[in-house]
Amino acid sequence: MQFRDLKKQYSVLKDEMDQAILDVVASSAYVMGPKVKEMEQAFADYVGVKHCIACASGTDALLLALKAWDVKAGDAVFVPSFTFFASAEVIAMQGATPVFVDVEQDTFNMDVRDLIYKIEHTIKAGQLKPKAIIAVDLFGLPADFKLIRPVAQRFGMYLLEDGAQGFGGRIGEQKVCSFGDIAATSFFPAKPVGCYGDGGAVFTNNDEWAALMDSYHIHGKGSDRYDNVRIGLNSRLDSIQAAILLVKLKAFKDYELVDVNTVAERYTEKLKGVVKTPEIPRGFYSSWAQYTIQVADKKVRAKLQDALKAADIPTAIYYPIPMHRQTAFSYLDPTMNQCPVADRLADTVLSLPIHPYLSEEDQDKICSVIISNL
Ligand SMILES: *Cc1c(COP(=O)(O)O)cnc(C)c1O
Repeated sequence: MQFRDLKKQYSVLKDEMDQAILDVVASSAYVMGPKVKEMEQAFADYVGVKHCIACASGTDALLLALKAWDVKAGDAVFVPSFTFFASAEVIAMQGATPVFVDVEQDTFNMDVRDLIYKIEHTIKAGQLKPKAIIAVDLFGLPADFKLIRPVAQRFGMYLLEDGAQGFGGRIGEQKVCSFGDIAATSFFPAKPVGCYGDGGAVFTNNDEWAALMDSYHIHGKGSDRYDNVRIGLNSRLDSIQAAILLVKLKAFKDYELVDVNTVAERYTEKLKGVVKTPEIPRGFYSSWAQYTIQVADKKVRAKLQDALKAADIPTAIYYPIPMHRQTAFSYLDPTMNQCPVADRLADTVLSLPIHPYLSEEDQDKICSVIISNL
């Protein structure tokens, strides 16, 4: 059994996908070709924002946003501790200081009370300027932007949405990657919409930031191609990946997103009361980058993971070490970065296989192994 069955997906999309790839090969427009423009327009339209700029990875997308806002040494950027390393890494890459915010046990997303507490604490300490909040749509579920947006406003901070796992998610009718002042997403193969390699994009309605990110992602280009006006990156999306993404987006819109939600609902039906199943707040819609259950403790989890493995069922632990415990961040003041819920989740979470092509038969097998081992 596969954790995320990309082979199955390819077998379904094969005819259309092979043609799209061969067309790019034949066109010889491999970098920054018309396919990239077409893909950017399609993704901007889907999300419902004015600008989409494709780049080389989700990590670069986050970095481009921080560059557009000139986030630098002396700035504090608030980010959940329970996330993938890149969400926090980019803050330190800019020379700014990450402040780790705890998450809610039910949704895995940023705890807004702890966010406010840590912003006020940072202001009181007087060393750093609170500059931006990075809200992560973890496991596919949008962060609670109805609560986070007013906090950003109240403290005069930028709001960056890390939608690397959330693409396709919604609150009401509003889609992920439209909630932040800028949003970033990733097209790493295992994300809700992935390409066949690395890729990413930024989204914004702001013309000025879009122009800055457009410049930063191509060596800080100016209007004259050979006069570079700022220090930037080489962070472009390959045309071939853009063509792949156009095929994938169509399948995602047509059925994949609905199908993965059906799989998630079925898990919850079968596992509710056996383990703690993920909770989707009223009005929220997840794209289910992960289906993550919680069990009593580390020992129970290890035993369950072994039993699943013996039955040829792959699982994963997202995330075993929260950001405030990462070796790379050991230079930070621990008293400013306590996150007890993230600590507990690191010991109790287990992510199960989930993707739009997971069969009912495989799902029944997964659930029965879980039920008989708890
Ligand atoms: C995957 C991921 C990223 C980074 O994306 P890459 O394309 O791998 O660079 C950033 N944030 C989160 C939450 C992610 O899951």
